[in-house]
Amino acid sequence: MRRPLIAGNWKMHGSRDSIGILLGGLLAQKLPESVDVAVCPVYVHLDQVVAACSDSDLRVGAQDCSHVDQGAYTGDVAASMLRELGCHWVILGHSERRSYHAESDALIAAKLAAALAAGLAPIVCVGETREQREAGEAEAVVARQLRGSLEGASSAAGLVIAYEPVWAIGTGLTATPEQAQQMHAFIREQMTGLGANADETRILYGGSVKPDNAGELFAQADIDGALVGGAALKAEDFSAIIAAA
Ligand code: PEP
Repeated sequence: MRRPLIAGNWKMHGSRDSIGILLGGLLAQKLPESVDVAVCPVYVHLDQVVAACSDSDLRVGAQDCSHVDQGAYTGDVAASMLRELGCHWVILGHSERRSYHAESDALIAAKLAAALAAGLAPIVCVGETREQREAGEAEAVVARQLRGSLEGASSAAGLVIAYEPVWAIGTGLTATPEQAQQMHAFIREQMTGLGANADETRILYGGSVKPDNAGELFAQADIDGALVGGAALKAEDFSAIIAAA
Protein backbone atom coordinates (compact mmCIF):
# COMPACT_ATOMS: atom_id res chain seq x y z
CA MET A 1 0.00 0.00 0.00
CA ARG A 2 1.52 3.32 -1.07
CA ARG A 3 1.01 6.26 1.27
CA PRO A 4 -0.30 9.31 -0.58
CA LEU A 5 1.93 12.37 -0.82
CA ILE A 6 0.61 15.86 -1.48
CA ALA A 7 3.38 18.35 -2.20
CA GLY A 8 2.81 22.06 -2.75
CA ASN A 9 5.16 23.78 -5.17
CA TRP A 10 4.98 27.46 -4.27
CA LYS A 11 7.23 28.37 -7.22
CA MET A 12 8.53 31.97 -7.06
CA HIS A 13 5.63 33.33 -5.05
CA GLY A 14 5.16 34.93 -1.69
CA SER A 15 6.77 37.24 0.81
CA ARG A 16 7.63 36.53 4.42
CA ASP A 17 4.29 38.08 5.38
CA SER A 18 2.11 36.23 2.88
CA ILE A 19 3.83 32.94 3.63
CA GLY A 20 3.22 33.47 7.34
CA ILE A 21 -0.50 33.83 6.61
CA LEU A 22 -0.55 30.77 4.31
CA LEU A 23 1.27 28.65 6.89
CA GLY A 24 -1.05 29.89 9.62
CA GLY A 25 -4.00 28.60 7.62
CA LEU A 26 -2.35 25.25 6.90
CA LEU A 27 -1.12 24.65 10.41
CA ALA A 28 -4.45 25.58 11.98
CA GLN A 29 -5.81 22.22 10.84
CA LYS A 30 -4.65 18.77 11.84
CA LEU A 31 -3.14 16.89 8.92
CA PRO A 32 -4.64 13.47 8.20
CA GLU A 33 -2.37 10.77 9.58
CA SER A 34 -2.63 8.68 6.43
CA VAL A 35 -1.13 11.29 4.09
CA ASP A 36 2.37 12.80 3.72
CA VAL A 37 2.26 16.54 3.11
CA ALA A 38 5.03 18.87 1.97
CA VAL A 39 5.42 22.49 0.96
CA CYS A 40 8.24 23.78 -1.24
CA PRO A 41 8.95 27.52 -1.00
CA VAL A 42 11.79 29.44 -2.67
CA TYR A 43 15.24 29.04 -1.09
CA VAL A 44 15.14 32.32 0.83
CA HIS A 45 11.90 31.40 2.60
CA LEU A 46 13.02 27.90 3.61
CA ASP A 47 14.28 28.90 7.06
CA GLN A 48 10.98 30.61 7.91
CA VAL A 49 8.92 27.65 6.71
CA VAL A 50 11.12 25.04 8.43
CA ALA A 51 10.84 26.97 11.72
CA ALA A 52 7.06 27.34 11.40
CA CYS A 53 6.60 23.63 10.63
CA SER A 54 8.93 22.29 13.30
CA ASP A 55 6.11 21.13 15.58
CA SER A 56 3.95 19.72 12.81
CA ASP A 57 3.98 16.83 10.36
CA LEU A 58 4.21 19.25 7.45
CA ARG A 59 7.54 18.62 5.76
CA VAL A 60 9.53 21.14 3.78
CA GLY A 61 11.17 20.79 0.40
CA ALA A 62 13.27 22.87 -1.97
CA GLN A 63 12.39 23.41 -5.61
CA ASP A 64 15.82 22.47 -6.96
CA CYS A 65 19.40 21.81 -5.86
CA SER A 66 22.87 21.91 -7.33
CA HIS A 67 24.48 18.92 -9.02
CA VAL A 68 27.64 19.41 -6.93
CA ASP A 69 28.25 19.60 -3.20
CA GLN A 70 30.29 22.79 -3.09
CA GLY A 71 32.60 24.98 -5.08
CA ALA A 72 32.66 27.91 -7.48
CA TYR A 73 29.02 27.66 -8.64
CA THR A 74 27.64 31.17 -8.22
CA GLY A 75 23.95 31.18 -7.46
CA ASP A 76 23.65 27.45 -6.82
CA VAL A 77 22.62 25.83 -3.54
CA ALA A 78 23.96 22.40 -2.56
CA ALA A 79 21.71 19.56 -1.46
CA SER A 80 23.72 19.20 1.77
CA MET A 81 23.01 22.88 2.58
CA LEU A 82 19.29 22.28 2.09
CA ARG A 83 19.45 19.23 4.32
CA GLU A 84 21.29 21.22 6.97
CA LEU A 85 18.54 23.84 6.79
CA GLY A 86 15.93 21.20 7.60
CA CYS A 87 14.61 20.27 4.18
CA HIS A 88 13.26 16.77 3.70
CA TRP A 89 12.23 16.91 0.03
CA VAL A 90 13.61 18.37 -3.17
CA ILE A 91 11.81 18.77 -6.50
CA LEU A 92 14.05 18.00 -9.48
CA GLY A 93 13.53 18.37 -13.21
CA HIS A 94 10.40 20.51 -13.03
CA SER A 95 9.33 21.43 -16.56
CA GLU A 96 9.91 25.12 -15.80
CA ARG A 97 13.56 24.33 -15.05
CA ARG A 98 13.82 22.02 -18.04
CA SER A 99 12.51 24.77 -20.32
CA TYR A 100 13.67 28.11 -18.79
CA HIS A 101 17.05 26.81 -17.62
CA ALA A 102 17.63 24.24 -20.32
CA GLU A 103 18.08 21.45 -17.78
CA SER A 104 18.95 18.18 -19.49
CA ASP A 105 18.17 14.69 -18.26
CA ALA A 106 21.89 14.23 -17.58
CA LEU A 107 22.01 17.33 -15.35
CA ILE A 108 18.88 16.18 -13.51
CA ALA A 109 20.49 12.77 -12.95
CA ALA A 110 23.54 14.50 -11.45
CA LYS A 111 21.27 16.58 -9.18
CA LEU A 112 19.43 13.42 -8.19
CA ALA A 113 22.71 11.75 -7.18
CA ALA A 114 23.66 14.84 -5.15
CA ALA A 115 20.25 14.96 -3.46
CA LEU A 116 20.38 11.29 -2.49
CA ALA A 117 23.94 11.59 -1.21
CA ALA A 118 22.84 14.47 1.03
CA GLY A 119 19.86 12.53 2.40
CA LEU A 120 17.13 14.52 0.64
CA ALA A 121 14.06 12.73 -0.68
CA PRO A 122 13.71 13.58 -4.39
CA ILE A 123 10.57 14.19 -6.42
CA VAL A 124 11.64 13.87 -10.06
CA CYS A 125 9.30 15.46 -12.62
CA VAL A 126 8.62 14.17 -16.11
CA GLY A 127 5.99 15.05 -18.69
CA GLU A 128 5.36 15.79 -22.34
CA THR A 129 4.42 19.04 -24.09
CA ARG A 130 1.15 19.51 -25.95
CA GLU A 131 2.92 19.17 -29.30
CA GLN A 132 4.53 15.90 -28.20
CA ARG A 133 1.17 14.52 -27.03
CA GLU A 134 -0.54 15.54 -30.26
CA ALA A 135 2.23 13.88 -32.24
CA GLY A 136 1.62 10.65 -30.31
CA GLU A 137 5.02 10.88 -28.62
CA ALA A 138 3.94 11.27 -24.99
CA GLU A 139 5.02 7.81 -23.81
CA ALA A 140 8.30 7.89 -25.72
CA VAL A 141 9.16 11.30 -24.22
CA VAL A 142 8.32 10.22 -20.68
CA ALA A 143 10.25 6.95 -21.08
CA ARG A 144 13.30 8.86 -22.31
CA GLN A 145 13.08 11.39 -19.45
CA LEU A 146 12.81 8.57 -16.89
CA ARG A 147 15.79 6.70 -18.33
CA GLY A 148 17.97 9.80 -18.53
CA SER A 149 16.94 11.62 -15.36
CA LEU A 150 17.07 8.52 -13.14
CA GLU A 151 20.32 7.16 -14.58
CA GLY A 152 22.11 5.27 -11.82
CA ALA A 153 19.41 5.96 -9.20
CA SER A 154 16.17 4.44 -10.46
CA SER A 155 16.06 1.91 -7.63
CA ALA A 156 16.84 4.44 -4.87
CA ALA A 157 14.64 3.96 -1.80
CA GLY A 158 12.00 6.64 -1.40
CA LEU A 159 12.37 8.05 -4.91
CA VAL A 160 9.13 9.79 -5.99
CA ILE A 161 8.15 10.49 -9.60
CA ALA A 162 5.78 13.31 -10.57
CA TYR A 163 4.02 13.02 -13.92
CA GLU A 164 3.32 16.59 -14.97
CA PRO A 165 2.10 17.01 -18.54
CA VAL A 166 3.50 20.42 -19.50
CA TRP A 167 0.24 21.37 -21.22
CA ALA A 168 -1.62 21.01 -17.92
CA ILE A 169 0.72 23.07 -15.71
CA GLY A 170 -0.77 26.39 -14.69
CA THR A 171 -3.14 26.31 -17.66
CA GLY A 172 -6.34 25.15 -16.00
CA LEU A 173 -6.28 22.14 -18.34
CA THR A 174 -6.06 18.87 -16.43
CA ALA A 175 -5.36 15.46 -17.86
CA THR A 176 -8.54 13.42 -17.53
CA PRO A 177 -8.32 10.80 -14.78
CA GLU A 178 -8.13 8.16 -17.55
CA GLN A 179 -5.28 9.95 -19.38
CA ALA A 180 -3.38 10.40 -16.14
CA GLN A 181 -3.97 6.79 -15.02
CA GLN A 182 -2.79 5.48 -18.38
CA MET A 183 0.48 7.38 -18.14
CA HIS A 184 0.98 6.50 -14.47
CA ALA A 185 0.56 2.81 -15.28
CA PHE A 186 3.06 3.24 -18.11
CA ILE A 187 5.53 4.97 -15.75
CA ARG A 188 5.17 2.15 -13.21
CA GLU A 189 5.93 -0.36 -15.95
CA GLN A 190 8.98 1.64 -17.01
CA MET A 191 10.18 1.82 -13.40
CA THR A 192 10.07 -1.97 -13.21
CA GLY A 193 12.16 -2.10 -16.37
CA LEU A 194 14.64 0.31 -14.76
CA GLY A 195 15.09 -2.00 -11.78
CA ALA A 196 12.94 -0.14 -9.25
CA ASN A 197 10.52 -1.74 -6.85
CA ALA A 198 7.72 -0.12 -8.84
CA ASP A 199 4.91 -1.32 -6.60
CA GLU A 200 6.38 0.82 -3.86
CA THR A 201 7.30 3.84 -5.99
CA ARG A 202 4.99 6.78 -5.44
CA ILE A 203 3.90 8.46 -8.66
CA LEU A 204 2.29 11.87 -8.23
CA TYR A 205 0.15 13.67 -10.77
CA GLY A 206 0.70 17.40 -11.34
CA GLY A 207 -1.09 19.84 -13.61
CA SER A 208 -3.92 22.12 -12.47
CA VAL A 209 -4.96 19.88 -9.57
CA LYS A 210 -7.76 21.65 -7.70
CA PRO A 211 -10.20 20.69 -4.95
CA ASP A 212 -12.85 19.83 -7.53
CA ASN A 213 -10.75 17.41 -9.62
CA ALA A 214 -8.48 15.93 -6.93
CA GLY A 215 -10.89 13.20 -5.79
CA GLU A 216 -11.31 11.55 -9.17
CA LEU A 217 -7.59 11.75 -9.91
CA PHE A 218 -6.73 10.14 -6.56
CA ALA A 219 -9.28 7.40 -7.17
CA GLN A 220 -7.08 6.04 -9.98
CA ALA A 221 -5.09 2.95 -9.09
CA ASP A 222 -1.66 4.32 -9.98
CA ILE A 223 -2.02 7.93 -8.81
CA ASP A 224 -0.42 8.25 -5.39
CA GLY A 225 -0.95 11.93 -4.72
CA ALA A 226 -0.18 15.24 -6.35
CA LEU A 227 2.36 17.93 -6.95
CA VAL A 228 0.26 21.09 -6.69
CA GLY A 229 1.19 24.54 -7.97
CA GLY A 230 -1.44 27.31 -8.00
CA ALA A 231 -3.86 25.65 -5.61
CA ALA A 232 -1.10 25.20 -3.02
CA LEU A 233 -1.02 28.97 -2.52
CA LYS A 234 -4.45 28.99 -0.89
CA ALA A 235 -4.66 27.21 2.47
CA GLU A 236 -8.30 26.32 1.92
CA ASP A 237 -7.70 24.75 -1.52
CA PHE A 238 -4.53 22.93 -0.48
CA SER A 239 -6.27 21.54 2.61
CA ALA A 240 -9.20 20.35 0.48
CA ILE A 241 -6.77 18.53 -1.86
CA ILE A 242 -5.05 16.91 1.13
CA ALA A 243 -8.44 15.80 2.44
CA ALA A 244 -9.23 14.21 -0.95
CA ALA A 245 -6.08 12.03 -0.86
C1 PEP B 1 3.49 22.57 -10.81
O1 PEP B 1 4.04 23.62 -10.99
O2 PEP B 1 4.15 21.60 -10.43
C2 PEP B 1 2.05 22.48 -11.06
C3 PEP B 1 1.50 21.31 -11.15
O3 PEP B 1 1.35 23.69 -11.19
P1 PEP B 1 -0.24 23.87 -11.29
O4 PEP B 1 -0.86 23.02 -10.21
O5 PEP B 1 -0.45 25.34 -11.06
O6 PEP B 1 -0.64 23.44 -12.65
